Amino acid sequence: VWPATAVVGPDGRLRVGGCVLSDLAADVGTPSYVVCRATLRAACEAWAEAFGARASYATKANPARAVLEVVRDAGLAADASTGGELAAVLGAGFEPARIVFHGNNRSADELAGAVEAGVGLIAVDNDRDIDILEAAVADGRARSRPRVLVRLTPNVEPHTHAHVATGQADSKFGFPLAAAEAAIARARRRLDVVGLHAHVGSMLFDLDLFEETVDVLAPLMAGVDGDVISVGGGIGAAHLPDDPEPPGPQELARRLAGRWPGTVLVEPGRALVARAGVTVYAVGNVRRIPDVNTYVAVDGGMGENPRVALYDARYEARLADRPLDATDVVATVVGKHCESGDVIARGAALPWPEPGEILVTPATGAYHHAMASTYNLVPRPPLVMVEDGRHEVVVRRERLEDLFAREVPGG
Ligand code: PLP
Repeated sequence: VWPATAVVGPDGRLRVGGCVLSDLAADVGTPSYVVCRATLRAACEAWAEAFGARASYATKANPARAVLEVVRDAGLAADASTGGELAAVLGAGFEPARIVFHGNNRSADELAGAVEAGVGLIAVDNDRDIDILEAAVADGRARSRPRVLVRLTPNVEPHTHAHVATGQADSKFGFPLAAAEAAIARARRRLDVVGLHAHVGSMLFDLDLFEETVDVLAPLMAGVDGDVISVGGGIGAAHLPDDPEPPGPQELARRLAGRWPGTVLVEPGRALVARAGVTVYAVGNVRRIPDVNTYVAVDGGMGENPRVALYDARYEARLADRPLDATDVVATVVGKHCESGDVIARGAALPWPEPGEILVTPATGAYHHAMASTYNLVPRPPLVMVEDGRHEVVVRRERLEDLFAREVPGG
């Protein structure tokens, strides 16, 4: 759950990447996202060892430039799903050939931009994507025939939260299986169909689902020009100490190789970054309602961690300077937003927290910085990289003037 470098020092205070978290918080303020570069790098290297550039990092999980650079340096490819993410991975120096571009409703500009940039693979999700790419070939914007994967909904039931289940028949993503052969044949008229793609969902711990996906796609491979099957991403990450250990990349690679002799691509996001991140907050109001509950309010909330409200995600919480003290209370850690669903952690066992103390939640490296909003006009936190006792702000804290920068005076 915690970054690999998380330790409690002789002074009893929690350190990550050699940095005392409460000292870091005093320096950069709260709330702040903290990413341990060593943990991130180790995860990237493990995936690179198992898959090389056949693993592309799902940028959506955490698109910070400094994160992308670690991914790039490990030799992984990158996966983008919007024009914004494409700009992020190109800006971070990924070779266009090592970029996979996805999405269920990209604009003509986004798709043509990908073609012009020379991205290595484009997943076509629907007939409109094919139309747009054919037009880009016809009008010369594509220098060569785009290499594509045809995305299918494999009808594999992922047993995950409905909001992150994508591979079932009733889905907005990809061609239904019944339409697969026709879609492949259509795409092949003007595009190089090098293979098939599917992504069954997120927070998956069961590798059988990936094997099932291959089994569904394999019979359709006879119709395509290449040998590529992409099983997407979705490998889970532990958020609570009792969560199961997520499967590792070597195990996934071994299982997939046993299922498909050709090229298998994967797109891990969370598996690379979730564990590397923690979030530091300052405790504010502590509200005890006798015989009912205790609310510990911190200076962030659903703006910088929407995952509890969106997916009922669960998190652990510790006090940074007393992480191992005996616990006095089982509390609900909440934020400062104007909703009762503004929860950071339920059932958090803590020593009685004092206002001003630093509270830390682990496993926040994926889909936190990426999904943060400015709801209630709360500026978004900075992202701070830690390594070898040094910390570096790599995304600055949003300022109040940033929040108003798009207002048009007199408009
Ligand atoms: N690939 C595709 C097509 C996705 O839609 C997603 C997530 O939504 C991912 C990869 C990454 O998922 P995860 O971060 O759960 O590995």
